[in-house]
Amino acid sequence: MEHMPAIRKLIGNLEARNIEAEYAENRTQALARILAAIPPAASVGIGNSQTLKALRVSETLAERGQPVYDKTFSRSPAEARSLKKKALLADWFVSGTNAVSHEGHIVNIDHSGNRVAALLFGPDHVLIVVGVNKLVPTLDDAIARAREQAAPQNARRAGFNPPCVASGTCVDCRSPERVCRSLVIIEGQAIPGRVKVLVIGEKLGY
Ligand code: SF4
Repeated sequence: MEHMPAIRKLIGNLEARNIEAEYAENRTQALARILAAIPPAASVGIGNSQTLKALRVSETLAERGQPVYDKTFSRSPAEARSLKKKALLADWFVSGTNAVSHEGHIVNIDHSGNRVAALLFGPDHVLIVVGVNKLVPTLDDAIARAREQAAPQNARRAGFNPPCVASGTCVDCRSPERVCRSLVIIEGQAIPGRVKVLVIGEKLGY
């Protein structure tokens, strides 16, 4: 497949940053890897992600009977906040991401910050799941992807209306509807094995 050379380069660059990485051909194979990696008794926090929704990660883990802290399961803002807090101290945290550079930078924009907080510290195990559509050559490309593609589409989905929703272009707005309150670049990990990236050979999420 045409993206394999870039994926091989990415996996090597992530491992040089103390981040484990592996490749799954499709979402079925990816879900099987996720279920095999996470012990059935572990608590799991979930970072809201269209990629994880497409794989039915939260639902499948919950069906195994383990605690799953996914804010999209909440029935009220208070419950959503509680689930986000619990996810920060879960055994595992599973998340999508906005972009990954071939050099190994993992780039995320966040609104309330719970997703990037858990990626950085808290859960002992972090699994980041990413489709090939989010792999880009450089850090600048990854930041541009997060701002120009992920942010407007996530804003629209969440019911916010910053300027980029109409224009598709980031103007570094000061809108009260701004969704990108944090821009986080993960450059590497201090603890080997804490973070693993699972690259899927399908287009997933935005
Ligand atoms: S800063 Fe504003 S315009 Fe730029 S991506 Fe974020 S919400 Fe959109």
